[in-house]
Amino acid sequence: MNKNSSNTMALAPNTSNKRETVCIFGTGDFGRALGHKMIQSGYPVVYGSRSTQTSSLIPKDAEVLSHAEAAQKAAVIIIAVQRQHYNFLTPLAEILHGKVLVDISNNLKINQYPDSNAEYLAQLVPGAKVVKAFNTVSAWALQSGTLDASRQVFVCGNDIEAKQMVMDIVRALGLTPLDQGSLLAAREIENYPLQLFPMWKFPILLSLGLTAFFFFYCLIRDVIYPYIYENKDFSFFIAISIPNRICPVLALILLALVYVPGVLAAIIQLYRGTKYRRFPDWLDKWMLCRKQLGLVALAFASLHVLYTLVIPIRSFVRWRISSQTISQAQKNETEPLNITNAWLSDSYLALGILGFFLFILLGITSLPSVSNNVNWREFRFVQSKLGYLTLVLCTAHTLVYGGKWFLSPSSYRWYLPNAYMLSLIVPCIVLVLKFVLIFPCLDKPLTQIRQGWERNPQYSE
Ligand code: NAP
Repeated sequence: MNKNSSNTMALAPNTSNKRETVCIFGTGDFGRALGHKMIQSGYPVVYGSRSTQTSSLIPKDAEVLSHAEAAQKAAVIIIAVQRQHYNFLTPLAEILHGKVLVDISNNLKINQYPDSNAEYLAQLVPGAKVVKAFNTVSAWALQSGTLDASRQVFVCGNDIEAKQMVMDIVRALGLTPLDQGSLLAAREIENYPLQLFPMWKFPILLSLGLTAFFFFYCLIRDVIYPYIYENKDFSFFIAISIPNRICPVLALILLALVYVPGVLAAIIQLYRGTKYRRFPDWLDKWMLCRKQLGLVALAFASLHVLYTLVIPIRSFVRWRISSQTISQAQKNETEPLNITNAWLSDSYLALGILGFFLFILLGITSLPSVSNNVNWREFRFVQSKLGYLTLVLCTAHTLVYGGKWFLSPSSYRWYLPNAYMLSLIVPCIVLVLKFVLIFPCLDKPLTQIRQGWERNPQYSE
């Protein structure tokens, strides 16, 4: 019986597919783009506008009426009007009573008003059920169909049924609603589109600062010093040699900085004997941008690889090799192969290749599409264990590159060590601290603390 009835249901015309009329106040850019998308998805659309004359820009299947007439035709009304014009809604309060008003508005500045636009709307029309949605989707993306980057629509509101109705519309448009809770969340949702890569600010500023510092550092050591003391013009080093010194230095320092907050957090927790006290603000912020720091580090490492690949075709390098060959030919002698140097050079390259491979693996697993497909333990394994292995390999790559030059006086022009020597400071400190922290006498209490144990419990029974 069940089987039959389900078959009959499947064959019967699906009356539930008929969509309810949606009203849109405002025939501006967003109102038109959203109306267009809604009509495509099967929703009858009626516009409420100050002028009832239709224009060629308005979707041709939509009706344009006065605000009051349009509002009467739908249970859901989308307010595609700027906040500063919301006053026109006050005389319509009676008609809007019980209706679902969707606030899609954005502001020009973060926290521009003391209350969110959605809360302001709810206060203006107290009888309506206000839901915040769609503000993170742009009119252009709606119209052009390039919604991949902004498929998620944050939705919030105090009335669960109203929120559900709006989320159903969002889904019908092929977007993904994300329930953010009550209308209190509206402020944050309104600030969201105004943020300019908030997590990237610190990593980008830090890498710009470090790049400037190391550029001038290398310029002084590798261009100005030989010019003054040896009368040699190495100014062309600015194009490839100096960037190829800065990139690995920054990649290593930034990668090490990804692991510094974890080590600091462990030390703080051990010292306090609890995990229930908040970390200082700066440490919290640092922890939140570790992924971005790692990705910037990966970008520098990739540039280093590219710069290294062109070394053999550089005119300066070819000139140096040919002059060494000619000088050997003139002296009629062949330099024997230095096995130590060959070992150092091969090991340095091998460590670099392996380090870069793991670095890429870390970068790939940090992509949302990949990280969403691994569980928390797998993600932690890759980011922490493989991450530390990457740091060890890249640090070893730099140490072997230095080889026997660490103690050579020629490495200290004007008492300035080579840039790669400076780059080893942070990673070596991080690795030593991490090594100390895995000793059982520290690791055991730390694990207990992270499982909730406290040295001096605040709320003892
Ligand atoms: P818009 O092009 O300036 O259109 C706003 C519409 O509001 C006008 O076309 C007009 O429609 C109506 N309006 C203007 N003054 C009015 C008044 N005094 N009283 C009543 N209605 C008035 O703006 P928009 O780009 O469509 O943006 C509309 C809302 O969507 C804004 O709150 C914005 O923050 C939000 N939003 C926009 C985008 C986007 O990409 N554009 C993205 C997300 C959110 P009528 O002439 O038909 O009355």
